[in-house]
Amino acid sequence: DRIISANLMMEDQAVELSLRPRYLAEYIGQGQVKENLKVYIEAAKMRKEALDHVLLYGPPGLGKTTLSNIIANELGVNLRTTSGPAIERPGDLAALLTNLQENDVLFIDEIHRLHRTVEEVLYPAMEDFALDIMIGKGPSARSVRLDLPPFTLIGATTRAGLLSAPLRDRFGVVSRLEYYTVDELTFIVSRASEILNVQIVGNAAEEIALRSRGTPRIANRLLKRVRDFAQVRGDGIITAPIANEALKMIQIDEAGLDQIDYKMLTAMIKNFRGGPVGLDTIAATIGEESQTIEDVYEPYLLQIGFLQRSPRGRIVTEQAYRHLGIPVPTEHNK
Ligand code: ADP
Repeated sequence: DRIISANLMMEDQAVELSLRPRYLAEYIGQGQVKENLKVYIEAAKMRKEALDHVLLYGPPGLGKTTLSNIIANELGVNLRTTSGPAIERPGDLAALLTNLQENDVLFIDEIHRLHRTVEEVLYPAMEDFALDIMIGKGPSARSVRLDLPPFTLIGATTRAGLLSAPLRDRFGVVSRLEYYTVDELTFIVSRASEILNVQIVGNAAEEIALRSRGTPRIANRLLKRVRDFAQVRGDGIITAPIANEALKMIQIDEAGLDQIDYKMLTAMIKNFRGGPVGLDTIAATIGEESQTIEDVYEPYLLQIGFLQRSPRGRIVTEQAYRHLGIPVPTEHNK
């Protein structure tokens, strides 16, 4: 039941469907990525060809799934959605691919988690729109090539570095999604409250945006919690004081940090003099998965300058000490 989590929560699913922008024009922020995609989409449509394969990477909740839906929409083609771990055998992927229609989009979330054997089937599919299938066994076995309709693969991952080089090289468009600015998130919160039919006044939308860690999914989650609070404690209208009170109760501070961030930073300070300390050591100390820290927590702390990476591990910055109200030790080397 964490606000800051990479996993979709039950309540997300229905609401995300309604809040999800459907066209590029409704997709806020990510200016450069959007500009480029607009041109590529337009060109592909003019040529009546499939769009080049697209790799989207960036922290969870920044809009990769949303953007792939939009791309299919703008192209006017079908979208099939799956994820790396869901495709267990090469045959599963073959079934997906042979069911595509010309120029369709296949979206593979968490593409870095594809099984090796499945990934190998993907190479000729991406490059030549072909499937190589082995028929028969033993000495009489032979490989048959099956043509596929041209299609666009959109892969999403939290970090491009997690992909094998041959897979990464097969994407014509590689786009990194960035954290959103407070202004952009304020706009997203205002738009979402309109869709959810809840009144939000003054700078309440900005209060929520400030604590959303640059992430639309978190902004939407916070908005829903604040809305509940406004309904129970007020008259349903979200004002800045109501928003602040609700956010305090949810235990997300003005910088968007939650209890896990606090636990992590204070553990690093108390047990390791602020670092450098290795990721696995941090994870073991606070009882979290290294992967969760690396994908969900750390990128934002790096972004706002609370953590630094060094070859010997992570270091807590002076800025973070100040935020936590802990005196910076004199020997602290940055
Ligand atoms: P990811 O696939 O990167 O984890 P999603 O595409 O699922 O993230 O985005 C999470 C939610 O955030 C979406 O349901 C949508 O409501 C909202 N969202 C994401 N990007 C934007 C955007 N650019 N503008 C408005 N809302 C967005």
